[in-house]
Amino acid sequence: MSDRDGLIWLDGELVDWRDAKVHVLTHTLHYGMGVFEGVRAYETDQGAAIFRLQEHTDRLFRSAHILNMKLPYTREELNEAQRAAVRENNLDSAYIRPMAFYGSEGMGLRADNLKVHVMVAAWEWPAYMGEEAKTQGIKIRTSSYTRHHVNITMCKAKANGNYINSMLALREAIDSGCEEALLLDNEGYVAEGSGENFFLVRGGIIYTPELTSCLDGITRKTIIEMAQSLGYEVREKRITRDEVYVADEAFFTGTAAEVLPIQSLDGRIIGKGCRGPVTEKLQTMYFDTVTGKNPFNAEWITPCK
Ligand code: PMP
Repeated sequence: MSDRDGLIWLDGELVDWRDAKVHVLTHTLHYGMGVFEGVRAYETDQGAAIFRLQEHTDRLFRSAHILNMKLPYTREELNEAQRAAVRENNLDSAYIRPMAFYGSEGMGLRADNLKVHVMVAAWEWPAYMGEEAKTQGIKIRTSSYTRHHVNITMCKAKANGNYINSMLALREAIDSGCEEALLLDNEGYVAEGSGENFFLVRGGIIYTPELTSCLDGITRKTIIEMAQSLGYEVREKRITRDEVYVADEAFFTGTAAEVLPIQSLDGRIIGKGCRGPVTEKLQTMYFDTVTGKNPFNAEWITPCK
């Protein structure tokens, strides 16, 4: 990733991709205390446009507030930085990664003189798990790793260190022949995927876990609004893993994963074992909205030019 042409926004300037470096004593590298976002820009008839830019920037600021980290830029400046990262790299569509991290002014847990740095990179990143997964769905397994507990780490912050849990769960799932993990909360109820929120459909009603220990996903919110606009009832409730086994449909949502059908959980086929009709309707509406073809909520799209 580091050896390529392009520009990265770092601390207020666009620098050459290969020069966007930090010191090995960078504090966040040692303890994971940093915050980030995952954002997408899609090709639209207005050129590359970022989907729900303001919501992503707002969540970055909320994550920083939770960690008590003061971001040295305004929301407007970071919105502009994300637009510039796409535009100045001539991208038609992009995955955008803003991150705020502590510098190398001190070491140890007590360091209190640390500078907050902010970077934004953007690059092309097509379908997270390949095109076929969007129709065929993915195989997932219940993780042996429990999703963070709300008083162990701050689940509402998209914090760097939180992702050790996600990576352990995802690696375990992949090593056992699946594509993604389903993490349960500390009481054994379904929480979310390693980087996605979870939904199931049963009897025409859409269910999703309460947010308690889950990340407050922007795609989740988008899909709830879309489903309601299509006349579906959406219920937030505790979900058990065996409710997933007997669901008619199940899918994940996330900025990277988009709307991704789930084929099976723990070897049990869900519904017909491929994308179900409700998932298909929502997925179509999602892709049409992010690419500006469906004016469902035109305010969600910010052109980069
Ligand atoms: N949960 C976790 C743990 C995630 O990392 C993500 C990706 N940001 C999501 C859910 C989905 O959030 P969003 O729809 O905002 O990308």
